[in-house]
Amino acid sequence: MPSSVLTRKSNPSASKPAKIGKCVYFFGGGKSEGNESMKNLLGGKGANLAEMAGHPDLRLPVPPGFTITTEVCAYYWQNKRSYPKGLRELVGDSLARIERLSGKKFGDPSNPLLVSVRSGARKSMPGMMETILNVGLTKDTIPGLIAQTRNERFVYDAYRRLIMMYSDVVMEKAAGVSPAEDQGIRKQLERIMDAAKKRKGVRLDTELDAKDLKKLCARFKDKVQEVLGEAFPDEPMAQLWGSIGAVFASWMGKRAVSYRRIEGIPEEWGTAVNVQAMVFGNMGNNSATGVGFTRNPGDGDNRFYGEFLVNAQGEDVVAGIRTPAPINEFSRSDQSQNRKSLEQLMPEAYKELDDIVRRLERHYRDMLDIEFTIEKKRLYMLQCRVGKRNGPAAVKIALDMLREKLIAKEEAVLRVTPAQLDELLHPIVDPAAEAKHKPLAKGLPAGPGGAKGMIVFTAAEAVAWAKSGKQVILVREETNPEDVEGMRAAQAILTARGGMTSHAALVARGWGKCCVVGCGSLEIDLPKKTVSVAGGKTLQEGDWLTLNGSKGLVYEGSLPMKDASESNKMLDDFLKVCSQVRRLKVRANADTPEDAARARKFGAEGIGLFRVEHMFYGKGSEEPLFKLRKMIVSKTEAERRAALDELFPHVKADIKATLQAMKGLPVTIRTIDPPLHEFVPHDPTALAELAQSLGIGLAELEKRAAGLRESNPMMGHRGVRLGITYPEVTEMQVRAIFEAAAELAKEGVKTLPEIMIPVVCVETELHNQFALVEKVYGEVLQAQGVRVIPHLVGTMIEIPRACIVADRLAEVAQFFSFGTNDLTQMGFGFSRDDTGAFMPGYLDKQILAADPFQTIDQPGIGELMRMGVERGRKVRKDLKIGICGEHGGEPASVEFCHSLGFSYVSCSPFRVPIAILAAAQAVVKEKPKRK
Ligand code: PEP
Ligand code: MG
Repeated sequence: MPSSVLTRKSNPSASKPAKIGKCVYFFGGGKSEGNESMKNLLGGKGANLAEMAGHPDLRLPVPPGFTITTEVCAYYWQNKRSYPKGLRELVGDSLARIERLSGKKFGDPSNPLLVSVRSGARKSMPGMMETILNVGLTKDTIPGLIAQTRNERFVYDAYRRLIMMYSDVVMEKAAGVSPAEDQGIRKQLERIMDAAKKRKGVRLDTELDAKDLKKLCARFKDKVQEVLGEAFPDEPMAQLWGSIGAVFASWMGKRAVSYRRIEGIPEEWGTAVNVQAMVFGNMGNNSATGVGFTRNPGDGDNRFYGEFLVNAQGEDVVAGIRTPAPINEFSRSDQSQNRKSLEQLMPEAYKELDDIVRRLERHYRDMLDIEFTIEKKRLYMLQCRVGKRNGPAAVKIALDMLREKLIAKEEAVLRVTPAQLDELLHPIVDPAAEAKHKPLAKGLPAGPGGAKGMIVFTAAEAVAWAKSGKQVILVREETNPEDVEGMRAAQAILTARGGMTSHAALVARGWGKCCVVGCGSLEIDLPKKTVSVAGGKTLQEGDWLTLNGSKGLVYEGSLPMKDASESNKMLDDFLKVCSQVRRLKVRANADTPEDAARARKFGAEGIGLFRVEHMFYGKGSEEPLFKLRKMIVSKTEAERRAALDELFPHVKADIKATLQAMKGLPVTIRTIDPPLHEFVPHDPTALAELAQSLGIGLAELEKRAAGLRESNPMMGHRGVRLGITYPEVTEMQVRAIFEAAAELAKEGVKTLPEIMIPVVCVETELHNQFALVEKVYGEVLQAQGVRVIPHLVGTMIEIPRACIVADRLAEVAQFFSFGTNDLTQMGFGFSRDDTGAFMPGYLDKQILAADPFQTIDQPGIGELMRMGVERGRKVRKDLKIGICGEHGGEPASVEFCHSLGFSYVSCSPFRVPIAILAAAQAVVKEKPKRK
């Protein structure tokens, strides 16, 4: 979340370039010029390659290479796609160092070195930017590589991959060519390859032999020339620089830009480029490539977990074209039941890998995701980074690592993001209903929780249907980065192909979205918009599906969902750790005794807002609502008092049950603050009934209702104004509160009501209302025969003027609670009910970086709050200060309230755990500032 809703993300091409430092960092041969802490400059991939290759505790087998810095990317975009002076020489020198270490030469006809060129931003952006493998293969180097490897098939396979990637990434995307849907060069080449397989009657790429592949490469090159009007480059240096430029260009590619927007990654970061000696997992059956996690990213289980493919290049595992085999027994899924594991097939390489994985985890003290390649039995590490994990896994890993003494409490608290914690609170498919239904299909459990929706087959449809208010499930053969907007819009994602590390799985896990991948029994017919399941069932676009993303199950139809478990031991343990770290108290906004009970289960330490008028919403509220309406449309004091008398028992009963549920914890009860017009019935029968009950004619009632109409009801006759005009309304509520508390005290139940007056702008309003409170308090003490009823009286701070005169208000008020919904409304002058018309445009055009009704606008509304806190505490040092606007459960706002020295935040019960976490993180994050 941005710290300010007004912070605009800057465009790297808009500002002047900073002075550029060292542009190229080398790693290899047990040494590195960079290290893990240099992510901003080297990108995540480059920094970790340097760490793995050169840190004295690691010095892992990493193929030598170099990283061109992110500063060069910024330079490239600020200088019409050109490079800083001297870069070519630096790249040449580094290439020579790789040559020396590998004993091969780039472009050498007899002993050629091939390199990979990969992107790598500060933060991983799975599949968003580009990679080109096998750079350096040309007419001249092909025979040399064949002679050296004695494997013609391998060489032509590598060549066809180079042509596919290079033509797509460099010659098409980076060149700005935008082909029609499905007419991209890569798709066209894939179709040629599929046709070749069909002709030969084979299914897998590996079943094409050297001759087939050689022919295929020739056909590919013709096609490239025909479609792109340019020959495929046959010069190694041209390929290298083409690739480097394309990786920098991909930073501004459509899908990278769209991913960054979703993830809030600033444009100025840029990507680094990693050039590294190629190692080959596709050199035969003693070669392999794979990916793994040091712990299971799906549930946090502390075991090495991964997948691999024999005789394959890395892209094959992630692309989901072949279903990978398990790395060891723990990684076995239903799909890979009969496949040999890496441990079984190559025990020595597995053992070395397992050992490296343990060392890496101890070194990084976090769960890592790794990529490796085995070339002719020799293991190479190609990547490691902190692994993405879902919410349950994040919580378990944090707790386990704390127990294992790998990390301290403060670090454990930072290891779970608020969004991940939210996943533990997510709905699941009702287990009872699930037990009664047979799954239609089973895939891999890639994203947690349950979801249901209507089937759509393209990302564009997902976006369009979701916009029209429909719940959709995006069903795809496999996803690719072009699908991200659709994946975002969908309730869940279901794919027919791919493993736990496929694109769909990575992205969904990163977002904590329900997702099932690799559901091999599904057959999707895109043109017909149908999906059939082996066994005959065919479903159409718009049909309902329900997914259990935690188990990988797919059900036909719409199954009932269940709220996330309120008693989850792991969640409770984690929240306990957070509570040991935080200082800010967390309360809940709760309007009914049931809400209060739920809030306590979630760990709320009180109620920060009990909206009296809300007890008239929802189930069982017909009778009190009717009485409230009578009160609202009353004309004379006598009429009103009669209505209030009828209302009193309802108000008191609800308050009493809520105070009782909170057992002595503070309960802030706000006097009634109803937008009056909302409570006037519109339906003729209800109007007639009300008229009859009031003993007036319908015409008179309509006249009174018309009198209550307001043009901006949010700034009208509400809050304290109602209590000033009709003191009896305040009196009734105060009496209900004190009587409820006194009765409970006699029953031995402790209570601590806090009476809160809303919509206050001047201290005289408080003088007036507190006098009423005082008067009723005396009356109740006497009537009930008790000496004291512990309570506080305070005010909401939700009008800008209240912030300015907070010192005057604090003279009388014992506490403040910031109503940031109204404060934002009145601070911005945005009617809170009418932002729908313009807010999306404001966000799209980056007039505002975030909706100020979701996250506090710190430079504006936040400054008003700061003023309120400072002025209030100046006259009353121990002033209790809280927040009860919707922002109270939003992590960045919680952190902000912590920084202002609030006593508590209050939010909806389901957000209480998130607020607890955010409050703990606020403490840890502030520490460096103090030193
Ligand atoms: C607020 O204004 O922030 C608040 C909590 O009150 P309401 O939303 O009921 O106006
Ligand atoms: Mg308000």
